[in-house]
Amino acid sequence: MLVMPHVAHLTAPNPSLMTGKGTNTYIVGTGDLAVIDPGPDDDAHIAAIQEAIASLGGQPVLILVTHSHLDHLPGAFSLARRLGVPIAAYAPILGVDVHLRHDQRLTIGGHPLRALHTPGHAADHLCFLLEDDAVLFSGDLIVGEGTVVIGRDGELDQYLDSLRALLPLNLQRILPGHGPPIDEPRRKIEEYIAHRLDRERQILAAVEAGATTPLEIVEEVYAEIDPRLYPVAAQTVEAHLRKLAREGRVLPYQEGGSTKYEVRSTDGG
Ligand SMILES: [Zn+2]
Repeated sequence: MLVMPHVAHLTAPNPSLMTGKGTNTYIVGTGDLAVIDPGPDDDAHIAAIQEAIASLGGQPVLILVTHSHLDHLPGAFSLARRLGVPIAAYAPILGVDVHLRHDQRLTIGGHPLRALHTPGHAADHLCFLLEDDAVLFSGDLIVGEGTVVIGRDGELDQYLDSLRALLPLNLQRILPGHGPPIDEPRRKIEEYIAHRLDRERQILAAVEAGATTPLEIVEEVYAEIDPRLYPVAAQTVEAHLRKLAREGRVLPYQEGGSTKYEVRSTDGG
């Protein structure tokens, strides 16, 4: 269960195509403990977190949430009631007691922990940096396997900026919201940036070839994925298209009640 001397790990029982083996919950600290991402509101998982806290022999002081998606946040409310500790997050949502800012510094059981506002996957996304170890709890900004969906509450240029902002931190390790730890953080971050830029080129090429809707583009560009993931991939494609439209590289237009895209003509004609 320990992934480092002062970090314990549990996996929530919510495996799926979207969540991999399930959401990762971490317990950080020495003496005073913080729980990161209690996950979905699942009684057995909340009880397992309480047992883990008891076996660590510490005192829970805080619950931290990386973002407000349903596989990360709801368990926080049940756990907070049971433990009698506050919830801290960026999200201005009812039931969150402490609203963290970008770069806000906390100390958990003697360990400095810094909140980093890292929007892109979700507008309210935070990563948590365990400063002395250069270990990052990355939530859904970076996951242990595969890549990340940019949903309707995300934006692709922000996502790329959030990834690039991690590079100067010289991370030693990433503990993601899903999947196994990442032991070569720089390589992973660079892969993620390169992957998104590749996708952008592929999406632009698909629009040039005549695809007009996110789903048509998915069928062309994401041929290798499970078709059950097409609607989700279409959200990421839409985020790419919104970015390309902001940059004036594609033109959105309305047809039959939906937004379609075409390549912006550069010859003035
Ligand atoms: Zn998420």
